[in-house]
Amino acid sequence: MTQNVTPRPVALVTGASRGIGRAIATQLAGQYDLILVARDQERLENVAATCREAGAQARTLFLDVADARATAAALEGLHVDVLVNNAGVAVLKPFLELTAEEWSRQVDVNVNALYHVTRAVLPGMVQRGKGHVCIIGSTAGRNTFVGGTCYTGTKHFVMGFAESLMLEVRDAGVGVAVITPGSVATDLFPEGSNLTWMLEPQNVADAVAFAVNAPPHMLVHRLEVRPLSPKRPRNSF
Ligand code: NAP
Repeated sequence: MTQNVTPRPVALVTGASRGIGRAIATQLAGQYDLILVARDQERLENVAATCREAGAQARTLFLDVADARATAAALEGLHVDVLVNNAGVAVLKPFLELTAEEWSRQVDVNVNALYHVTRAVLPGMVQRGKGHVCIIGSTAGRNTFVGGTCYTGTKHFVMGFAESLMLEVRDAGVGVAVITPGSVATDLFPEGSNLTWMLEPQNVADAVAFAVNAPPHMLVHRLEVRPLSPKRPRNSF
């Protein structure tokens, strides 16, 4: 196993190139060195530069987390103290309009990648007897809506996966947290969507920081964050 050569702990964030993942990465940069994962090289390098300005060492991995082999090869043996499984895709349309490709992509990224990424870094945490696995779920993991057959299904999966994994590894000193945001103003929504009433990505990053900074004996397992007063849009967007 590769040794951590820096004195700071290491956080790996998937889907760090924009949106919620970008906010999480820059939030954690004050405290952690970072391994940033996504496919868009230019955006990811920009996020890495911001993290370095905040004092972190930041390494970029241009990776499709749905690619099992590439993910195992890239992540095998990395020392990771905090894993944030954030990468996700949403194609929100009625079932009869959803193509097989759109279905598979959501399952591959939102569900199967949880296996590929977590399987690669969790053994090191268990071996060391500490670490955090944080997963960005959604209120769509408890709710349903028209156009959400596949997306809500994947996020319901996240809830079951996260709680089962938590029960499996908490005795080994590894915490598993699932953060379930309501709507957040990001590119997940189609261009032209009204984002003015939504949470901001930083709000989710704050929730992640709260979960991973809990006292050693305290496990934050589930944290739901929602917009307050969604019917009164803020002017400051
Ligand atoms: P976003 O702005 O569209 O960002 C998605 C991120 O995931 C991007 O960085 C993207 O990077 C990465 N990604 C997508 N497919 C990938 C793949 N195959 N391999 C590697 N990275 C991939 O969306 P977001 O709103 O920030 O979403 C982040 C997470 O929050 C998702 O899990 C989403 O389900 C969840 N969430 C979002 C909301 C919301 O309202 N926005 C609410 C609740 C939960 P590249 O394109 O560069 O690869």
